[in-house]
Amino acid sequence: MPYLVLKNKYKVRPLRIIFIFYWFLLAYILAALIFWFIDLNEQNKELTRLRLQAVSIHDAHFIQKVNKIENDEKRKTAQYISEGITFLLMILAGAVYVFRIIKKQLVQSEQQKNFMMAISHELKTPIAVTKLNLETMQIRKLEYGQQQKLIRSTIQEANRLNTLCNNMLYMSQLDSEGSSLTYEKIDLSTLAIDCAEDFILRFPERKIEMEVENDIFITGDKLLLQLAINNLLDNAIKYSGKEDVVLIKIVKESKKIKLQVIDQGIGVQAAEKEKIFEKYFRGSGKQTKGTGLGLYLTREIVKQHRGTISMKSNKPRGSIFEIQIRGSKNIYL
Ligand code: ADP
Repeated sequence: MPYLVLKNKYKVRPLRIIFIFYWFLLAYILAALIFWFIDLNEQNKELTRLRLQAVSIHDAHFIQKVNKIENDEKRKTAQYISEGITFLLMILAGAVYVFRIIKKQLVQSEQQKNFMMAISHELKTPIAVTKLNLETMQIRKLEYGQQQKLIRSTIQEANRLNTLCNNMLYMSQLDSEGSSLTYEKIDLSTLAIDCAEDFILRFPERKIEMEVENDIFITGDKLLLQLAINNLLDNAIKYSGKEDVVLIKIVKESKKIKLQVIDQGIGVQAAEKEKIFEKYFRGSGKQTKGTGLGLYLTREIVKQHRGTISMKSNKPRGSIFEIQIRGSKNIYL
């Protein structure tokens, strides 16, 4: 962890310097281009003046010669202007391209910084809560009900830590050589029910419902699919109120399998709909704990299973996250 923090800290500063250097270089290039144009134009005028001086007024072709010299000057000026405009356009196109890359890097660095802060919080909290719960049980003689409450909260925190570790591991796999899937035949219906039941155990006060068609089988990576479903359920719980229902639904429509996680929570702001699947992105709305990785990794997992994930608004409020996995010879058994 300290390595990551240091890496991030030293990444941001050089980028700022690069940004300043970029503006300086761009200003210098544009100034050089303007001076180049002025200089050539002055030379052109000087040359015209000397050529005009060299033409004798007694020359039989005086008028034609003067006209030719003046036309030459105009032609040269037009040539410098068109060359100047071409250079300017090329410089501006390059500058815009470089600017966008640098800006993207700066945004990513900022997101990484926020991610590091979020992740240290996400790691420390479950450890602190677990330690406190265990110490309380060790020191005090608790009633059965109280003891169960502490055990449940400890299991909840351990599960949070587990999902977080799985997300981190999968992300580092993606960042390095890319993750390879362990294909097996999976009963998606049972997997979804198991995930939902796990959430019911972890959050007994919440209303978690299931509408799952039986016997839907796919070929895929069980651990990764479990991670994807857990991320969606986790968000549905996080971004909705205690009284709101969270529903997990699986239906099969001809060759298509649709897995939906539906909540009645705060929903996603229209401006953020495109961004929520980006790495490290965290919504600007009412923020709870999180790292900005869940949806990004879920989308990667779905992609690896040749599926798609989308989000639409739920009526009257909340969100519907939908995974669609299309039928193909490799995916279906
Ligand atoms: P995290 O939840 O850790 O911030 P995610 O990648 O899981 O990261 O989600 C990215 C963002 O998408 C969240 O910060 C939140 O703003 C938004 N979001 C995700 N799921 C939901 C949901 N069910 N309801 C409302 N907003 C959501």
